Amino acid sequence: MSKKITRYQHYIDGQWGDAADGATLTTINPANEEVWAEVPAASEADVNRAVAAAKTALHEGPWATMTATARGKLLRRLGDLIIEQAHHLGDIETIDSGKLLKETRGQTGYVSDYYYYFAGLADKIEGATLPIDKPDMHVFTARAPIGVVAAVVPWNAQMFLTATKLGPALAAGNTVVLKASEDAPAPMFEFAKIVDQAGFPPGVINVITGYGEPCGRALTGHQDVARVAFTGGPETASKVIHNTSNNYAVVSLELGGKSPIVVFDDADIEGAVNGIIAGNFGAAGQSCVAGSRVFIQHGIYDRIVDALVRRAQRIRIGDPRQEDTEMGPLATKAQVDRIIAAVGKSQIQGAELLHGGKQPEQFDKGYYFEPTILSCPNQDIETVRNEMFGPVLSALKFRDEDQGITMANNTRFGLGAGIFTENLARAHRVSAKIRAGIIWINTYRAVSPIAPFGGFGHSGFGREAGIEAVLDYTRTKTVWISTSSAPMANPFVMR
Ligand code: NAD
Repeated sequence: MSKKITRYQHYIDGQWGDAADGATLTTINPANEEVWAEVPAASEADVNRAVAAAKTALHEGPWATMTATARGKLLRRLGDLIIEQAHHLGDIETIDSGKLLKETRGQTGYVSDYYYYFAGLADKIEGATLPIDKPDMHVFTARAPIGVVAAVVPWNAQMFLTATKLGPALAAGNTVVLKASEDAPAPMFEFAKIVDQAGFPPGVINVITGYGEPCGRALTGHQDVARVAFTGGPETASKVIHNTSNNYAVVSLELGGKSPIVVFDDADIEGAVNGIIAGNFGAAGQSCVAGSRVFIQHGIYDRIVDALVRRAQRIRIGDPRQEDTEMGPLATKAQVDRIIAAVGKSQIQGAELLHGGKQPEQFDKGYYFEPTILSCPNQDIETVRNEMFGPVLSALKFRDEDQGITMANNTRFGLGAGIFTENLARAHRVSAKIRAGIIWINTYRAVSPIAPFGGFGHSGFGREAGIEAVLDYTRTKTVWISTSSAPMANPFVMR
């Protein structure tokens, strides 16, 4: 008996529809490897329609003249609907991505807080009156929306990554074309249904998906796109930058990481172990802020590593829908294959496999992978150098504070960093020297709409969340007004 497939349509100009050429892509439940849903695969023609709808909504119709306060109310309504439907959204995200149901439901509920935060900021985007150096002139600045925003998100944490883009973009008065990932896109189409219920004017938010080529390329390089907010991998980011050489769009990039967790010998051991476990095996390691390079001071190295292995052995892998499951499957088969190859290569390079390293034997279906711990002699090892985007922890030993900092900074990335120490002065010293956009001291993976989020180096640029995120979706407009009672002087008569 063939299984029933859920069919989604894209959302353009307030209307549901299929791709212009009828193309579709299917999406797989990673827990049982079954195709469960089908979505339209957008081509350039669909992208053009979505951008045209966003452009029209920007300049004509109710959104163009809506007060900032009214925009804020719409964002608040969106937040209300998301929290009301968090359970359903979480269910869909878990089926599509394999992430734990308790995490997807919880995260989706918290996503509303991002919309509330930006709703509150909508009518606080102020300009300035300038003390201009000319007589009889009144000069002021206003913050205008940039234009049509292309929001491109990956499959992981997509409700959250959408909120950090749409929240500030809409608060500032822009319109958006949201492109979901070709992997696990279904939650974004459920989100589109909520957008429709919230009552945004047609064209303000458009939701499509498709492959990077042609959909992502056509969208980020579109002549009428003025702002690209991208989250994804560094290789794709290079293509996005290349695409925007066509339209000069302002770009923000939230990319991958190889974040360090540095554990000093004065750390609280239990807290450090919990932080490392959360940073590596939370979301099965499929997190941009995974703290996957773990530096442990030599005096406590064996103790911490033993505790990590014991904890990893107890992690309950299984159906992401079960309440007591601690780690679900990875999202795609390609991820599993990539990680198996990387762990194998690292062992050849001299890393010692302490736990995991393979797919667990108890499942005959599903993209499951064991929590994996490697003890690494140096930073040239494959799993230390490159983002794994899976449950792979590389442990390394350091001698003293200076060496710990040097090793932590030995990466092209700079997204997050964890520091575990009971010494307050050391916590300040080390956090000042580590090059990363977010530093967590005696904690890990905490996020908030109030706290800026973003990286240094190859982890990208731009900050999502926090007040500055809204300003990042505006352009300053300067207005000069002559207050003189005399007409403007003849420009060819010099005084
Ligand atoms: P990806 O780069 O493969 O895809 C991201 C998005 O880019 C998808 O929607 C994809 O279709 C699109 N895309 C692909 N080619 C494109 C092109 N030529 N032009 C425009 N768009 C194109 O990333 P992924 O594998 O889905 O996600 C994992 C990556 O995302 C990891 O590197 C992870 O660290 C990163 N990430 C970063 C953050 C952050 O906030 N820093 C958060 C989550 C994930």
